[in-house]
Amino acid sequence: MKAGVGSRPSQTWRSLLASREFLREGIYKLVGDGNLTLIWPDLWAGTHSVSINGVTIVRIRCIPLTRTRTHDAWAWKDEANGTLSVKSCYKMATKELWEGVDMVPNLFCLLPSSLWKSIWYLPLLSRYTVFLWRACRGIIPTIEALNHRGLEIDENCLLCGSEEEDVYHALVDCSRLKQEWDEARYNFASRFYHSSLIEWMVMEWLKWSEDQRCHFVIALYRIGECRNRRKVSQEASNFNGLWNRVERCWNENVIARALVGNDLEVPSILRWEKPRFPYIKLNVDAAMKENRDRAIGGVLRDWDGLVTGAFISSTPNLNDVVVVGALAVEKGMKVAREAGMKDIIVNCDSRLVVDMLNARCNHTSLWSSVCTNILNLSCAFNDVIFRWIPRVCNKSADVMSRVAKNSSQDTIWTLSVPLCLADSYIEYIT
Ligand SMILES: [Zn+2]
Repeated sequence: MKAGVGSRPSQTWRSLLASREFLREGIYKLVGDGNLTLIWPDLWAGTHSVSINGVTIVRIRCIPLTRTRTHDAWAWKDEANGTLSVKSCYKMATKELWEGVDMVPNLFCLLPSSLWKSIWYLPLLSRYTVFLWRACRGIIPTIEALNHRGLEIDENCLLCGSEEEDVYHALVDCSRLKQEWDEARYNFASRFYHSSLIEWMVMEWLKWSEDQRCHFVIALYRIGECRNRRKVSQEASNFNGLWNRVERCWNENVIARALVGNDLEVPSILRWEKPRFPYIKLNVDAAMKENRDRAIGGVLRDWDGLVTGAFISSTPNLNDVVVVGALAVEKGMKVAREAGMKDIIVNCDSRLVVDMLNARCNHTSLWSSVCTNILNLSCAFNDVIFRWIPRVCNKSADVMSRVAKNSSQDTIWTLSVPLCLADSYIEYIT
C-alpha cells in the first residue's frame, strides 16, 4: 500500500495506484501473528484507527486470539467474509449517488425524470415500453402474482430452481440467462454490479445508445414472455436465438415506424370519425401549464358529430404522462356519467394510456388507483371502449386542453358549446 509510481510505470500499475485511495477506505487488517500490522497507522481494531479510549479497548478485546500461527492479512469491510468483490467495490464507489435516490418503486420515486422520459419516448411499440415500465416498478406477473390468481407455483425460480424469483432475477440475473446476456450484441456486463433493474438502469441506461436501449427492452420483453409461457403451460423455456429474435423485432419496428411516418404526412385521410349509434365519443388530451401543472380537457360528441359536452380542468405537476392521461380520461368519464350518457368510446392519443387501461393492470400505485377509479366508473355505463387515436384526430380535445392551460378554474359545458370549439366546430364535425 506504500509503493511508489516508479520511473516508467505501466498503464496497469498506474490504474492500480489510482484505486489505492479508494481501497484504503474499504480495507482493514485481520490480525494473525501481528508481524505485518502497524499499531497506529493500520486499521486493525474494527474499522477505525486506534486511539486510546474505552471503545478501542473493547474492540481489541473482541479480536479472537489465533491458536495457529497465521499471518496478518488484508480484509474488505463491505463483505461479511472480508473478501474483496467487484460488486461491493462498485456499491461503495457509488454510495454517495445512491444516498439521494429513493429506490422504493412507487410513481414518485426520485429517479431522474430524464430516465422515465427516455423510456416513454423510445421508438418502440408500446407493449415493450409498458413492459419495461412495469418491470422497473416490479409489477410484471411474478410467481407471487400468479399464485394469487390460483396457480400454485413454487416460489423458487422455475429455470434455475435455486433462487427466489424477483423481477431482476427473472429477467437478468438467473444463471440460465447468463449465456444469453453474454452473447448480446452490446455489452451488458455491468449487470453483475447491481441487484435490481431500476438500480442498473439508473446507473447505465442514459449512457446507452438508443439502439442498445431498444435491444435491451425487447430482450427483457422476450425473456418475460418465455418465462410466462413456461409458468402457464409448462412449455420448456428456450432462449436459443434470443438475440436473433430481438434483432428481427427491432427491424420490424423500424419498418413500422417508417410506415407510420408516411401516414402522418397525409393527415387528410386521418380525421375524427362519428361514433355509431348509440355511442358518444369522448376525446381527451393534456397539456403542460406555465407553472408545470397539467391542464386537461375533453369533448363529448354524439353519432351526428354534435358536441354534447366539454370540460377543462387541471392537476398538479405529476411527473408521469400515463397518470396525467388517465386523469383526463377519468374526468371526461365523470362528465359523461353526470350527463347521463350510457355508451361511450374513449379516445386518447397516448397509446400508453389506452394500452394500460385495456390491460386492466392491478397493482399498488397511484396509476393503479386512477385505473381502478376509471374501471369502477365504467360500471355506471352500459359499455365503455378505450381506443387510441392519432394526434391529428384529437384536435378538439387538444383545443380544450389549451384552453385549460390558461384557466385556473374547472369548467364543464353540457348545455352549450364552448366558444373556442364553436370557431372550428364546422371543421371538426365534417
Ligand atoms: Zn433462476
